[in-house]
Order: sequence, then structure tokens, then C-alpha cells
Amino acid sequence: METLVKPELLAPAGCMQRLRTAFAFGADAVYIGGTKFSLRKNADNFNAKEMRQAIDLAHSLGRKVYVTVNVYPLERDMPELPTYLKELDAIGPDALIISDLGVMRLAKEHTSIPLHVSTQASVLHEHTANWWKALGAKRIVVGRELSLDECQEIRQHSDIEIETFCHGSMCTSHSGKCVISNYTAGRDSNRGGCVQTCRYVFDVHDPDTDAVDYSAPIMNSKDLMSLQLVESFIRQGIDSLKIEGRMKSELYVATVVGAYRRALDAVFDQLQNGKEASVDIEAEMREIERMSNRQFTTGSLEERAFASSINYDFPGYQKSHAFAGQVLVVIPDEALLVQVRHPLKEGDQCDFVTPSGVSTEIRLENMADVNGNGLENMPPNRILRLPFVDAVSPLSVMRLRLTEAVCT
Ligand code: SF4
Repeated sequence: METLVKPELLAPAGCMQRLRTAFAFGADAVYIGGTKFSLRKNADNFNAKEMRQAIDLAHSLGRKVYVTVNVYPLERDMPELPTYLKELDAIGPDALIISDLGVMRLAKEHTSIPLHVSTQASVLHEHTANWWKALGAKRIVVGRELSLDECQEIRQHSDIEIETFCHGSMCTSHSGKCVISNYTAGRDSNRGGCVQTCRYVFDVHDPDTDAVDYSAPIMNSKDLMSLQLVESFIRQGIDSLKIEGRMKSELYVATVVGAYRRALDAVFDQLQNGKEASVDIEAEMREIERMSNRQFTTGSLEERAFASSINYDFPGYQKSHAFAGQVLVVIPDEALLVQVRHPLKEGDQCDFVTPSGVSTEIRLENMADVNGNGLENMPPNRILRLPFVDAVSPLSVMRLRLTEAVCT
């Protein structure tokens, strides 16, 4: 029988709560940004104390934390880098994710932390993969331009670990390197400042008459989804599947991580032990489609991304459900305390999505504040007390069914 290895499931964690959520819903590892040299300037990010807490929690659960140090720094940034790297060495994450050769050199000099080469470094073939390995990298995150077959070719000619993106936002740049935002908004994409200019609606003019031929978001990539390719990822020996989205909500982390966890476990069990797969991949995909998305594509994983990977219909997002809140405390047989993230009112239809994969529908009634005072409306960022619901555990997420699907 073929020897297979189950890929690691690697989730984004923009803050401590999303890190806890990712682990509760089945992530094997998370990647986080520190306060410097990370590409998500607008994520909450982790200071040294929070990073220590995150790593302690991860290790207590047998999971891992990788820290991004993946900007392409300028000369003026470099004096600060050795001190930051020494701080990280003392904190002890399981890997640093780097893009720049100079950063790698300094990381090797000032830390003993394993190094993963970011997708930003455009590793697209075996020669680059092997060169990074010779330089001391443990893993490459291949460029999103690669198909699964091309990943397998690297796998066959290199024994470096291979990580590939399986889900999340895509963009029409080469391996994430882009200056459209720099030119149009003065914000540097390569330093975490991207304003997503590629999502704008552009007027396309007839070259002869100069009349507007049509207007559309012509560079607006659909989001990546590859749940249906989990079997190929396993068969092709991909070591780690990465979910994009350090800026996304707890609902996104819970839903996407939960779906890929169930798919990976069931498909692996089927391939390894001949058990019938106990997961309905299409149903899992429909759950993901309920959340904010730009429509879905498999990117370049099956065939080169082309016009079919662009969402020409709308520049923003569509969704049928909103992130309503997250369960902080369960008082058995009595109440749930929910951190509210969206305005709610008596009679709203919601679902709880739990780490065990159970989805429970409820109609909001007998709402109360944290002190038990009844109320009919609840604004965001408050604690809502609801009657106990069986099977709902702490960190379960609550989503609100919108009366009609929203498209922005
Ligand atoms: S502007 Fe668009 S293509 Fe460029 S980095 Fe930002 S999201 Fe990617």
C-alpha cells in the first residue's frame, strides 16, 4: 500500500482569539505576525508577550506557531532587524516565514529557528527549491502560480517540505509582489499596505471611439477554494495546506478550518485505511459559500488561472450569513455568554457552528445582557446571554442568517 502522510493544516491567526478558534476547529499550526517586518500591517498582530502566550498555548496542545518576517526590507529597515530576530529567538516560535535572502542570512546568524520560505519568494521549480534547501530552509511555500502537478514535480526532485495555499483571497500579482497600490494610493503592498486597487471597477474604452465599452472589476480575482482537491494534495505529498486570511473573522477561521479538517481526516482515512469517506465535500463547500466571498476558483491548482478566475460581477463580497458573535462561556443547562459582533434583535435566525462540526439553528428569544436583564436588541461588542443550547461549546461561532443575500 502507498505510504501517505496527512498534510498539516495551517491557519491564519490575526489575533489571540482567532488563534484559539483555529486550534479549537482543528488547525495543526497557525501563522501570526509580529509587530514588525510582517506583511499584514492592518491585522492586530502579536507583541512579544502575546506571542509567548500563543506559543505556550500551541505547544500545550501539541500544535505549532510560525511567525511571518516576510517583508522585503529596505536598507533603512535593516539596523532594527537583528534585535527583533534575537527577541524572536528568545520567544521560540516553530518557524520564521521569510522572503528576503538578507533576512534569511541574518535569521541564521541570530536565531536557531527553522526557516520557511514565503510564497513571496516565487519558488516555482525544483532548482529554486533545492537552492533554498542548500541555504538552510526547512520548507518552501510555493508560488500560487503553480499547479498541483508542478508541485508534485518539485516533490519528486527535492526533499524540502512543500507548503501550498489551499484557500483564501487571491490577487492578480506575481506571487503577491505588486506595486499597483503603491502607484495608485501611495501604500506599499510589499510592506503590508495594499489597498486592493485591483478590485476597483475599471472603465474599458473602445480604442477607436474612446467611448466606454464596459465597466467591470477586470482584475478582481475570485477567492481560492480547493476542498474538492484534498485527495490530490494528500496523494502528491504536499506537507502543509495553508489557509489565507490573517485579517478575516473568527467565523471565517472556524468555518474554513473546520471544513478542511473534516475533509483531510476523512479522505486520508479513506486512502490509508480503505474506510468510506465520512464527509460530504459539497455540503462543506456550501457552508463556506455562506460567508463573505468573491466567488470561488481553484486558481492555478488545476489549470493556469485565466479569465474564469476573475469575478467581473462585483468588486466586493457576497454573503448570505454574517458573523454574529462567538460563545465565550457555557453555563451547562443554563446559559451561553456570547461576544456579539453584529447588531442582533429578538426573532433573528442564527446558527451555531461548533468545533465538533455540529450546526444548530436557533431563533433569538429570551435575550438578556450579561446581568440577566432582558432586552430585544443587542449592539455589537457587548456580551449577550442566551438560553443554553445543547452541543454548543466555548469558541463556537454564531452566524446570522441575512434576510437576503448581500452583495457589496
Ligand atoms: S493591489 Fe491587488 S494584485 Fe496588488 S497586491 Fe493588492 S490585492 Fe494583490
